[in-house]
Amino acid sequence: MAASGRLLAAAHDAMAREVAAGVTTARLDEIAEQVIRDGGGVPAFKGYRGFPASICPSVNDQVVHAIPGAYALADGDLISIDCGAVLDGWVSDAARTYAVGEVDPVVTRLIDVTRRALDRGIAAAVLGNRVGDIGHAVQTEVEAEGFSCVESLVGHGVGRSMHEPPNVPNVGEPGTGEPLVEGLVIAIEPMVNIGGPDVALAPDGWTVTTRDGSLSAHWEHTVAITASGPRILTC
Ligand code: MG
Ligand code: MG
Repeated sequence: MAASGRLLAAAHDAMAREVAAGVTTARLDEIAEQVIRDGGGVPAFKGYRGFPASICPSVNDQVVHAIPGAYALADGDLISIDCGAVLDGWVSDAARTYAVGEVDPVVTRLIDVTRRALDRGIAAAVLGNRVGDIGHAVQTEVEAEGFSCVESLVGHGVGRSMHEPPNVPNVGEPGTGEPLVEGLVIAIEPMVNIGGPDVALAPDGWTVTTRDGSLSAHWEHTVAITASGPRILTC
């Protein structure tokens, strides 16, 4: 799973070098697929429940699950890129969010807070804790900054399949939920909105947007629970 995670990180790194005004989301998708296939892997998203591409490039008020296409990034955009890889049958799943060119300061703050919330969630992913401790850590960080966590979409276990038990919500109560046991691998993935937590499904049947049109960011790592602490596999 670590090898799968490293390959996925390489795909993200390659996309990160290309994110700029004028680049289409379809081009980013090509880059990710090429890196994953060159490394002997398979894009985890392509064909998943009929999804047509290797990444979900969600721009501005799009939260997750957007489909790549002809849209060209513009100065001032925010883009969350979610991607997954399968290597030797093992799945990894990670997302990063970028500012395109010059953005409003609140966009930079949203991206930073979401990433920090992921870090807090990972720090809570230790033996003896439960899934609720992760959600609580994420929620506390996000709400202290006046933003909101999307509650209807959650992180998840990862393994031979992309979505396995347990669910890993981005809100929660300490000491509640599934116990974090040694060897468990989970995707921790805060989705954070500047406005309210509610989301809506776009007419394409895939893209999830914020209901109030506010901007949204998404950071995700695949993380193993080990005796020596959380191990991030997708970096
Ligand atoms: Mg993902
Ligand atoms: Mg995920």
